This record gives sequence, structure tokens and C-alpha cells, in this order.
Amino acid sequence: MYTGELDKNPHGFSDEQVAFGQLAYRLSKKYERCSFSDQDALDAYWRDLVDNGFAGIYIPEQFGGLGQDMLTMCIVTEQSSAAGWPAQKLVLTQAIFSTILLRNGTEEQQKFWLPPIARGDLKFCFGLTEAEAGSNAPRMRTTARRKGDNWVLNGQKTYISGVDDSHAILLAARTPEANDGITLFIVENPFERIPNQRVQLSGMRMYERQFTLYIEDLEVPAENVVGIPGKGMRALFDGLNPERLLVAGQSVGLGRWGVAKAAAYALQRKVFDDVIGTFQAVQHPLAESYAQLEAAWALTVSAAREFDKGGQAGEESNIAKFVATDAAFAAMDRCLQTHGGSGFTDETVILDRYLITRLLKSAPVSREMALNHIAQNALGLPRSY
Ligand SMILES: Cc1cc2nc3c(=O)[nH]c(=O)nc-3n(C[C@H](O)[C@H](O)[C@H](O)COP(=O)(O)OP(=O)(O)OC[C@H]3O[C@@H](n4cnc5c(N)ncnc54)[C@H](O)[C@@H]3O)c2cc1C
Repeated sequence: MYTGELDKNPHGFSDEQVAFGQLAYRLSKKYERCSFSDQDALDAYWRDLVDNGFAGIYIPEQFGGLGQDMLTMCIVTEQSSAAGWPAQKLVLTQAIFSTILLRNGTEEQQKFWLPPIARGDLKFCFGLTEAEAGSNAPRMRTTARRKGDNWVLNGQKTYISGVDDSHAILLAARTPEANDGITLFIVENPFERIPNQRVQLSGMRMYERQFTLYIEDLEVPAENVVGIPGKGMRALFDGLNPERLLVAGQSVGLGRWGVAKAAAYALQRKVFDDVIGTFQAVQHPLAESYAQLEAAWALTVSAAREFDKGGQAGEESNIAKFVATDAAFAAMDRCLQTHGGSGFTDETVILDRYLITRLLKSAPVSREMALNHIAQNALGLPRSY
């Protein structure tokens, strides 16, 4: 019976990559029946990830990590999600922060920040979005001005995930004195140092909480600037493209979980003479989703391989994210439909996954902004945003 677990290897993964994927699946499967808001389960899962080296999976060996590539990270997020419990904790710190630091940080910054991340002692969150700028992030109003050896930040950020569970935040601010561009800052202890208010998400059980941050005269030492002041937008995409890749992996995995769960249910639920899995009206949507997820996974794998060559893989990451999130949501909706009324009960734990899968179409990066990128870069159409 189909389970969503990595049990064949059409994309030529190495033995090590297959082993990481299978380990991620096994670790996550233990938590499949837990709610995403179960803090004890989230904490225990994080310990499992750390004990098995996943906190350092993408960090180079010289900084105490396992030195794996982005494709391996994608396999891990895909397989943990296929087991019903995505390794979301790895996305912000590993995909965004570590990649930005590896590509833009100084040697001192890399030596200081990467080893504790690899040990699982340090988690990052990421502050880009502002209420008024929304998808138009470069229009942000948070500013940073130089004051002696420090920068002083003022402004607001919103929807910032996991601030209460992070040791530091990577904050983007406008620097009028540096070409009026965007600059990236590391701020330690953000939950304690920045006044904040919880953003309540209606009806969602989430593995992270979201906050609005009210930044007032926040002093940050100059050595905590990552990359060149005023040139932070380019550095940001070193992290945002891998985030898209990992979200694509997560989406494919969640979709696989939905298809596997629906197929298992269809094999045992009997309301007429035979189990519902004998009806084509039930079989075909699941088969279609299986095929769409395989296609999305092939795109994700090839985009991750492109990123691992050292470039941005912007077009490939946006395509993979767009196709994977649409395929995953269709699969999860079909999972719900196959389950009839039982799909809406806590017992099947489908609705938690359904809402998360839906969220991934809107954030991070909405499907419209992904399509804007594809239209402009692949089709040569005028920039529409
Ligand atoms: C649960 C959650 C967690 C989040 N975590 C973080 C985080 O940790 N850090 C962080 O910085 N941000 C975070 N975000 C913010 C997220 O990235 C933003 O919601 C997203 O960037 C969009 O901004 P917005 O919500 O203001 O939507 P808007 O920009 O107002 O967009 C509204 C709609 O209009 C569409 N639209 C806007 N402009 C265009 C255009 N030019 N062409 C076509 N369509 C367009 C959008 O696609 C969208 O459908 C999170 C959001 C959520 C919901």
C-alpha cells in the first residue's frame, strides 16, 4: 500500500540522501497524530531532530555540521511532511539564515553563528514583512541610521513567525545613508528586546506563533550587519529562494500524506456493496494528485540541484513552489473529500494539514508573486509589480 515514504529512487539520490529522507520520515511519523499546536510534541520533535544531527545538516563540516546540500534538505522536508509532521523548524534557520550567512557573512560571523546552529543551540526567525508594504517588501518603512559603532532601528514588522522561540532575528531595514537601500541586521533576544503583540490566526493550529514587532530606537552593533549595507535585497534572495524550495518539498510531502491517507481509507470504508476505493470517482482524483505530486517533486529536485551549483535558481524555485503548492492543496482537498464527514473530526487530523497546505499558497511568497516572477523572467513580459 502507498505510504508516501521514499521507497524508490527515480531521481538518482545518493545512499546518504535516501538514508536522511528515510530517517526524517521515521522521526516525523511518531508525531503524526499530534496537533500542530501541541507544544510538548513540538519540543520533543525538535530534540529528535537535534539528536539526529538535522540542525546542522546544511552547515558545512568546518562549522560542525553535516555538510549536506539543499537537495538533501528538500528530501528531508518532503519526507518529514509525507509522514504528516513537517520539519518546519529547519526552514527559517537553515534555509534562510544559514544560506544568507554562508553566501554573504564575514568569516567571523560564520564562525560565531554557524556552530551553535549546527548543535541545535540557536534558532533564528526572520523579519521582512510590514503591514503597509506587504508583497512589495522593498517599500518597507523600517529604517536604520548610523550612531557611532551602532545602528539604530525604528519601524514595525508583522506576521513574524517564531519570535518567541528564537534566539535571534534577521531583520531587514531601509538605510537612508547607504544608497537608501535595504540592509540586513542580526538582533539577539528579539522577543525580550522588541515590544510585540501576537497575531491571532483564525482557526489555524500552527507550529509557530506570529507576532507584530514594534521596533523603537533598537541599537544593533555594526558587526551584526550581514552583507553590504544598502545591498541587502540581493543577499535576501540567497535565503528566500531556498525557502521556496523547502516549501515546495514540504508541499509535495503534505500532498503525499493526504493521498496515502485517502487511499488507505478508501480501501477500508464500505457504504455500498464494496469499499469506496472501487469507485473511479474516488480513485481518479487520488491518482491525478499522485501524478501531479510526482511532477512537482521532479521540478523541486531539479531546482534544488540548480541552486546547489551556486546560483540563485530564482526561476526554478518559483516554478517548483507554484506547482507544488497547487498540487498539494488539490491533494489535501481530495483527502478531505474521500473521508466524508470523518475528515472534519479531530481524530483524522486532516484539517490541521489542510489549512497549512492552503497557507503555503499564500505565504511565503504568494502564488501571484511567483507567477509575476515567471512571467517577467521566463517569458520576458514587462515587470508587473
Ligand atoms: C502564517 C504566516 C507566517 C508568516 N511568517 C512570516 C515571517 O516569519 N517573516 C516575514 O517577514 N513574513 C512572514 N509572513 C508574511 C508573508 O510573507 C506575507 O503575508 C506575504 O509576503 C504577503 O503580504 P500581505 O499579507 O501583506 O499580502 P498583500 O501584499 O497585501 O497581498 C494580497 C494579495 O494581493 C496579491 N498581490 C499583491 N501584489 C500583487 C501584484 N503585483 N501582482 C499580483 N498579485 C498581487 C497577493 O498575491 C495576495 O494574493 C507570514 C505570513 C503568514 C500568513
